[in-house]
Amino acid sequence: MNNRYRHLFFDLDRTLWDYDSNAMEALQEIYNSYKLEGVFDEFENFHCSFTKHNDELWKEFRLGKVHKDVLRTLRFEKTLFDYGTINSDLAIELNNHFLEISPRKTRLIDGAIDLLEYLRSKPYSLYIITNGFTKIQLLKMESSGLDVYFKKVFTSENTSSSKPHNDIFRQAVTSVNARKNESLMIGDDLETDITGARNYGIDQVFFNPLIVSHNHKTTFEITKLDQLREIL
Ligand SMILES: [Mg+2]
Repeated sequence: MNNRYRHLFFDLDRTLWDYDSNAMEALQEIYNSYKLEGVFDEFENFHCSFTKHNDELWKEFRLGKVHKDVLRTLRFEKTLFDYGTINSDLAIELNNHFLEISPRKTRLIDGAIDLLEYLRSKPYSLYIITNGFTKIQLLKMESSGLDVYFKKVFTSENTSSSKPHNDIFRQAVTSVNARKNESLMIGDDLETDITGARNYGIDQVFFNPLIVSHNHKTTFEITKLDQLREIL
């Protein structure tokens, strides 16, 4: 094992918790129960349109351009609008339903639990740094059994900051009395996780399961979670 790192900061969505599979399952349930085939013809249309708007709105949220409540209803409003339906009440209802069921989904990225069990048997302290909302992120972790591995969860909400800004990393690292050179950030997003951690001054592991090509400098890069064992 590596003698240098002691404090491991993990991203949650798409690094440990399988956001895309869980969202898709939730959307499929919503599609069926609201009989949305009348609007979208087929599930894939609904799914694609939602994913596009959701990702765009999250980007705007990170830039401080949109409030979380607006993000939540607007993603479904825009999705419905793409297929000619203007219905704010329905958008709000779909969103409430999505928020209710999606964080309770339990799919994890392959190898997540094996990796966490391995890390737990070593002298590492594990934490989460996530841009999500506290209540939702904790619910995801509890539902999927991730909660037991982590000492603290830092969110945009409880730090009043968000990745890639220095402040969320600074609050996380200093509040657990970690040294920067003993700290490692593991995440799937080059902008928020990797650039953020690098600018703050801690080493990073880019989790790149889709093997996207890029020009970013990263301390380490892995395509499967179990490759972390070679580093740790
Ligand atoms: Mg992520």
